[in-house]
Amino acid sequence: MKNSELHKKPDDSSSDLNDDIPIAVRVSSDVNNKVNISPLMLIIGGLIGFIFLSVASGFFFFLTAPKQTTNSPTLPNTTAANLPAEIPPANSTNNPINNSNNENDATILGHLPYQEAPKSELIPITADGEIKMRKAAAVKFQAMSQAARNAGVILSPISAFRSVKDQNQLFFEVGAQRNQTPAQRAALSAPPGHSEHHTGYAIDIGDGKVPATNLQATFENTQAYLWLEANAAKFGFEMSFPKDNIQGVSYEPWHWRFVGDSHSLETFYKARNIKPIQTP
Ligand SMILES: [Zn+2]
Repeated sequence: MKNSELHKKPDDSSSDLNDDIPIAVRVSSDVNNKVNISPLMLIIGGLIGFIFLSVASGFFFFLTAPKQTTNSPTLPNTTAANLPAEIPPANSTNNPINNSNNENDATILGHLPYQEAPKSELIPITADGEIKMRKAAAVKFQAMSQAARNAGVILSPISAFRSVKDQNQLFFEVGAQRNQTPAQRAALSAPPGHSEHHTGYAIDIGDGKVPATNLQATFENTQAYLWLEANAAKFGFEMSFPKDNIQGVSYEPWHWRFVGDSHSLETFYKARNIKPIQTP
């Protein structure tokens, strides 16, 4: 379309051309032809008004926008949706490993919950005072250790009472250092709050003559293990995690627990539906 045609008055144009011209163009053309100042003023005024409204509404949006952004569920939803697949939420560290089949016993990967022994109940079993057990268990362990020594066997205490805090370090920090998942870690070490070591009744025993077998399945070949297997029950001790134990915990021939009085027996067996370990 030519410019000259645009500026023709409707009555000068053919009906085809008139239909072809947008209404807004036709009107402004007519107005421009007849009046010079007031339409310009109207346009400027309209523009100013439009700009003012735009700025005002933009400013209003600016004022309200931060609140709307803060309240927007988009960001938290995205974060929450992405997190569980990759990283457990910080407040549910135990979720991935809380796969108990029986909710009543609150086991975590086969480990039962245990109360931490009161400090006042603990006494040292080593000269440096570093390794402690509950009094009843400590007295019996020392008697057992002496009896073994008399037979030429050195029962070497490796670890006994551990606080929940100690276990936390052992489970999560050592697990991370070794690149172990909670499930892999739990096969070797109980999650915090679920270690028999919390009770003050459990002890890891090594053979003083063969320290290379400490905390290894090969401990079962040592004099110390053979002596314990034959004599520990006389002192109220039993192995907690023999091969194919019902808790599904890895075989730990070095880990023994005291069950020689009512309190210790109840600690490990009461209301747990666990049968005492029987020698075949
Ligand atoms: Zn142990």
